[in-house]
Amino acid sequence: MSHKGIIFNVQRFTIHDGPGLRTELFFKGCPLRCEWCSNPESWTAYIQPGVYKTKCISHKKCGMCEEACPEKDILNFERGKLTSIDRSKCTDCLACYDACPSDAIKRWGKSMSVEECMKEIRKDKGYYERSGGGVTVSGGEPLLQSDFVAELFKACKDEDIQTCCESSFYSDWKEIEKILPYTDIIISDIKHMDTDIHKKHTGVHNKRILENLKKLTSEERKLILRIPIIPNVNDDMNNIEATADFIVDDLNGRVRTLQLLSFMRLGEEKYSSLGMPYKMEHVKVDRKMFQKRVNEIADYFNSRGIHCLVGTKEKE
Ligand code: SF4
Ligand code: SF4
Repeated sequence: MSHKGIIFNVQRFTIHDGPGLRTELFFKGCPLRCEWCSNPESWTAYIQPGVYKTKCISHKKCGMCEEACPEKDILNFERGKLTSIDRSKCTDCLACYDACPSDAIKRWGKSMSVEECMKEIRKDKGYYERSGGGVTVSGGEPLLQSDFVAELFKACKDEDIQTCCESSFYSDWKEIEKILPYTDIIISDIKHMDTDIHKKHTGVHNKRILENLKKLTSEERKLILRIPIIPNVNDDMNNIEATADFIVDDLNGRVRTLQLLSFMRLGEEKYSSLGMPYKMEHVKVDRKMFQKRVNEIADYFNSRGIHCLVGTKEKE
């Protein structure tokens, strides 16, 4: 059966999520709500409009969105510009997006077939071959659309294109199993070892994730692990030591690299386009001191025999 995927971005020539040059497909829908997430447009599994008020021509000169909207009084204007949508009444029909003559309304997500994705992917086949790259699925949570990802990865393998899945692995094992036969590289996060703190900052407990990581590393498989280092959330020594213990004791020596990703304020504009609060607003970081702390954490992991680096530069 041929499925369709809901994808909010197809990015060519990415270099961070897997080796070489890659085409990366970002899937919509995520069961986690990490406070530091830079892709809030990925959270819901459906296509939705985003508002960019600086691009609005003005209600007086245009007003096409209001004319097109089948709901009553749900578009909010301030000083003539569209600033927000009443999301409790919006049906995500996208009529406003279709009508808008400027880029003031963005469409977050589109439905794509495997063949449509493959058309994009094939454009850069020569680059994958020369750089050791391939295709990465990310999100959001690609495993929420595991049937589609399995079909897409199978099509990639049929054309000798390397595949990589970046996932939280907060998923039933039966969904993971669907993609494994066609997946070359796996990237996942460990956000916190304490399950209650994990839930406080991401919305879910970590037990299922840790169990899945253990299962994944029980067979021959390349695993790249990541820790997004968030100040005052997971950068304390108790958590860092517990993470190192888990990697050494429970992951079978199968972590190829542990990558530390330093917190950055990213995606704030997207939160406001969706009318959502940005929870990291209050977090101020002394970049130099913080980077020093991240380097110290990397040194600690390396001293425990875990190959750890700061950032995502991955060698084949
Ligand atoms: S998506 Fe549809 S219901 Fe929502 S604001 Fe736009 S036109 Fe109105
Ligand atoms: S259709 Fe677009 S440009 Fe026109 S008023 Fe609405 S948001 Fe502004």
